[in-house]
Amino acid sequence: MYNRFMKQKLNVLFIAAEADPFIKVGGLGDVAGSLPRALRHVSTGAALDVRLVIPFHSAIRTENLDLKREAVFTIPRLGGEVPVQVFRVDMDGVPVYLIAGEPVNAYPEVYTPDTHADGFKYTFFSLAALELTRVLGWRPDIIHANDWHTAPAVYAMRLARDGDDFLRHTRSVLGIHNLVYTGKGASDALHAYGLPPVMDGSLPDWAEHVPLALGLWAADSLAAVSPTYAQEILTPEFGAGLDAYLRTRREVITGIVNGIDESMWDPAVDSALDANFTAETLDQRVVNKSALQTRCNFTPDAGVPLLAMVTRMDPQKGVDITLDALRLLPDLPWQAVILGAGVHFVEEAARRLEADLPERVCAIIRYDGKLSRQIYAGADVFLMPSRYEPCGLSQMIAMRYGCVPLVRATGGLRDTVQDGQTGFVFGGRSPEAMSEALRRGIQAFGDKPTWRQMQQTGMAQDFSWNKSAREYLKLYQSLVT
Ligand code: ADP
Repeated sequence: MYNRFMKQKLNVLFIAAEADPFIKVGGLGDVAGSLPRALRHVSTGAALDVRLVIPFHSAIRTENLDLKREAVFTIPRLGGEVPVQVFRVDMDGVPVYLIAGEPVNAYPEVYTPDTHADGFKYTFFSLAALELTRVLGWRPDIIHANDWHTAPAVYAMRLARDGDDFLRHTRSVLGIHNLVYTGKGASDALHAYGLPPVMDGSLPDWAEHVPLALGLWAADSLAAVSPTYAQEILTPEFGAGLDAYLRTRREVITGIVNGIDESMWDPAVDSALDANFTAETLDQRVVNKSALQTRCNFTPDAGVPLLAMVTRMDPQKGVDITLDALRLLPDLPWQAVILGAGVHFVEEAARRLEADLPERVCAIIRYDGKLSRQIYAGADVFLMPSRYEPCGLSQMIAMRYGCVPLVRATGGLRDTVQDGQTGFVFGGRSPEAMSEALRRGIQAFGDKPTWRQMQQTGMAQDFSWNKSAREYLKLYQSLVT
């Protein structure tokens, strides 16, 4: 419907440290690769001009990219100007700008453990992305930055905006994918690029010159990656020391869940599976279960509930809670497959459970995309007892593949899984609480009509990016009208 307050056309500059398919390290890469395309898809005609900017990391493969040099300019840093080169490539109609320059080339990885070094890379990148709009003469209505790496763009824009005809009407969104990473250690870089601390007393002392905090201070809107995470970051438990400040900005905080790419995750056509299936042909699923049981050296038995985890082996993910909960269930029938890699002591704990219970536990310590798909398609229950989970994608993928999730009530897990409808949700964080939920799950598995209903309800959920993109579009519109 035409709304006379609605701006007719929006220019959106989307800035991120990584974007699939150019380069991906984690969930942010999924979001930055999918959301701009989905935004373009859901906006009608010329209503939205969204452009993506990422660093030209040296690990980005260029063989198949039709790159065009778009701009050359400099940005000021203490001691002199730093040259910037910008290349352009199109991604399904979305212009993508790759920013190159000495600070981006300084090391090949997207992120290093050294925030000081990352600070120079990303402050340069953020300021170059902002300056690019001016060089192109393309005035952004919205700057959508993500996490601490690109927060300096939001901060610099805010400092410039009032005295600057070009940016005067620009508004900003800062996406919060994981509040724990604040960019502490990057102050020298901020200083070198002329970005002063916030001195109005609103931020905690330690945060006055920390990139994420500056972005939280400067952004017109803060978008956490799920409604529950948007609430959780206001509490000391999840607030990373910034909760008191965030409580003062609560009116500008919103939560929008990420989507999954439904064409990439589709059991009807997934070539990794032993048998493809849909919600209508769920009987086929047992072929995948039996193949998975064989891969795990379990006795193939459709009647035994097959539990699964596919996860980074990180304390965040609660693998230890699963392992302890399983030890509490010797009396029940179950088999469990755990695929994951990461922190050594978590991997070792999984291996120990396999050694203790070889006939019912299979721990596979590696990253394996194909096997992950076979697990989603063959296991009955997907376990995700995360200690915190800003959004989480795996539980949505599991539901799409008819694998019923069993999750801890936190962040995006809470927002995407309905207890008793599409999965099992438990509170607390003890193995006992999880084992009680597992008892419920295993019991429900025995009731075939109920189980089938849960699988089908999960498979029918709309986890597409289109839904999330529409919410972002509404958010952008609310900022400019
Ligand atoms: P996070 O981004 O915190 O790791 P998400 O649930 O958002 O968690 O996304 C995890 C993604 O990584 C999912 O697509 C999951 O299938 C995949 N994944 C995690 N560990 C593995 C693994 N060992 N092998 C294959 N895929 C994995």
